[in-house]
Amino acid sequence: MDRYRVAPEATVSLADFDPADTGGIDKAAAKAETKALNRRLEDLQELLYAEGKHKVLIVLQAMDAAGKDGTIRHVFDRLNPQGVKVASFKKPTAKELAHDYLWRIHEHTPGTGEVTIFNRSHYEDVLIVRVLGLVPEETWGRRYKHIRAFEKRLADEGTTILKFFLNITKDEQKARLQARLDDPSKHWKFDIGDLDQRKLWDDYMVAYETAISETSTEQAPWFVIPAEHKWFRNLVISRILVEAFEGLNMAYPEQTKDLSGVVIE
Ligand code: ATP
Ligand code: MG
Repeated sequence: MDRYRVAPEATVSLADFDPADTGGIDKAAAKAETKALNRRLEDLQELLYAEGKHKVLIVLQAMDAAGKDGTIRHVFDRLNPQGVKVASFKKPTAKELAHDYLWRIHEHTPGTGEVTIFNRSHYEDVLIVRVLGLVPEETWGRRYKHIRAFEKRLADEGTTILKFFLNITKDEQKARLQARLDDPSKHWKFDIGDLDQRKLWDDYMVAYETAISETSTEQAPWFVIPAEHKWFRNLVISRILVEAFEGLNMAYPEQTKDLSGVVIE
């Protein structure tokens, strides 16, 4: 999975990543493997919760219709809701805007034993905010450094951070938005405002390239996920998660209570 990981110090050009990559695997095999991996992830998450040592933060960023919701549904479907949270970050409220941009983020970071998925994140503050010029360059330009420091602090305090950019082409986005438009049962998903962001596609790609290049670190790496084929997207993310969870070398807490004499009447 290393080919999707952005090395620290690397300067990313998204043109080097094929959104339609399938890694040479076919759909049926990918689905079967994802299913097995997700079962494994279920066990690992239970272990994370039971052990109560680690915290896991997963950041999902993407253009509209690239599959953030689908990823959450497919990859995390087997996880126990007790230990998993999704935090979605929308347009900030007046109160949030009155504070620094990390203020609203911090309270949603995972606690011990928890997995938190950020559906959008503090990266919006160097993506849409940069593209729409919501603050001056001087302001957003400083934020990469803040974000590196913020994530380092979380990592130093026991958080495993994995950041996924779901990579699709502009054409694929068009096809997906068109499919929503053509199907009345999908109209609730269609946001006319997405078309304004779509017009700024190239600016967004530049903003993503900078954000990913500036903030992919050893402790908080970015992965550029080929997301044109949903089944491959799910497989790659599941593989990365299982590998990361296994790397935590977790164990069930040692039994300190002596239950040998207990009789239930
Ligand atoms: P979906 O459309 O799949 O329900 P979404 O994540 O696109 O999910 P929306 O409510 O449609 O949710 O959009 C949220 C919008 O808020 C996005 O356009 C996003 O860029 C914007 N947003 C998020 N954070 C910020 C921020 N800090 N400043 C300005 N805009 C933001
Ligand atoms: Mg939207």
